[in-house]
Amino acid sequence: MIGGLPTADDYLPGHGDRSWSARSYALDLTYKLEGNRLSGEARIEVELLEETDRVVLDLAGLDVSKVTVDGKAPAKFSQRRHRLVVKLREAGAAGTTLRLVVKYGGHPAPLVEKHHGDAGWEELTDGVIVAGQPHGSPTWFPCNDRPDDKAPYRITVTTDTGYTVVSNGLLEARKRRGSTESWTYVMDQPMATYLATVQIGRYEIVEHDAAVPLLSAVPEGSGRRRSEGYEAGFGRQAEMMAAFAEWFGPYPFASYAAVVTGDPLDIPLESQSLSTFGRNFVSADWEQVRLVAHELAHQWFGNSVTLARWQDIWLHEGFACYSEWLWSERSGERSCQEWVEHHHAGLTDADEDLLLADPGPELMFDDRLYKRGAVALHVVRRSVGDEAFFDLLTGWVADHAGGSVTTEAFLEYADARTGTDVSGLLAPWLFETALPDLPA
Ligand SMILES: [Zn+2]
Repeated sequence: MIGGLPTADDYLPGHGDRSWSARSYALDLTYKLEGNRLSGEARIEVELLEETDRVVLDLAGLDVSKVTVDGKAPAKFSQRRHRLVVKLREAGAAGTTLRLVVKYGGHPAPLVEKHHGDAGWEELTDGVIVAGQPHGSPTWFPCNDRPDDKAPYRITVTTDTGYTVVSNGLLEARKRRGSTESWTYVMDQPMATYLATVQIGRYEIVEHDAAVPLLSAVPEGSGRRRSEGYEAGFGRQAEMMAAFAEWFGPYPFASYAAVVTGDPLDIPLESQSLSTFGRNFVSADWEQVRLVAHELAHQWFGNSVTLARWQDIWLHEGFACYSEWLWSERSGERSCQEWVEHHHAGLTDADEDLLLADPGPELMFDDRLYKRGAVALHVVRRSVGDEAFFDLLTGWVADHAGGSVTTEAFLEYADARTGTDVSGLLAPWLFETALPDLPA
């Protein structure tokens, strides 16, 4: 509790509420680029998980003008810190469902949290990105901001004509009215709040021939003069998707988009069914190409199969990092074994104070977590052999698609699926800080 308000996950104090779950979100947003003005209506189907007379949502920096619960005014609503507290007219029992509608608006801006810097709705030179991970969602819609509360979404954004809007899932409708245009996207598979996103910019669309609609949204004009840098990374996304499908099972969603912004960005970021890159990532340099593979791999590891607790972040980052090395080997760059030896040597030189299975909020995106997680997976692969290893990855994704998982669940699954003691093998990598040697 912070000021009497709940926390769902210790890694993100003051976010999320375990007393209810969102069954679906429908967001209807109007955004004016000039002046950065957002107004929205969020329709949330709420299921109470315990008896309660209030619903606490996350919403940061935006003002709520109206709330209804099943079409009627609630007893009261108030905004405190980054929360919207809706007091019900009467307590509801566990299992009760409520239709909550929230009207809100203001000037959205990134939210700064200790350990995590800023995240959320962010203005670019000429457009917008939303970087939700891990705490940015409340900057643009009221939500239950915990990673294990996954729901389908329908997102409509109305904005100035001349701009392209990319959001999660399939574009269902696009309607122009005078000087504005509305874009409606549908994500019908469960999605964590932090993976919801909106991208607005002067983009043109490059289509790639893949198993599902696969496109890149690139700065206007740049699609017609695709560079060597583009071809090396973004130009090979269809091949990456096919290779990952071979190793991890079918691509989990109905579409994929890579958004390349006109501005440079510090890091790329995955959202569900799309990823965002700054223009500085259009490069034939392996250090950039690897990130195109990394973000795509998150669609399997992170987006379809999502951590239940932030402490299990290695289940996303270790796997996505290992996917980079798999792509490296497939595309004729260094082999996985070479990367493993290279990065194990690097980890040997680094501080050994990182606990992979529970790194703490300050180290959850530390580079050592990515590399140590990937090296540990390779150790499993070498132990069980390629056939059992890729069968494990494919089974893990297939059996947990759309779900929420923990490290313990992975270990139990790995032991059963391979019929070997994977959990014993991984224990020193996951639950001790000292770096194990690589097996001979
Ligand atoms: Zn990642």
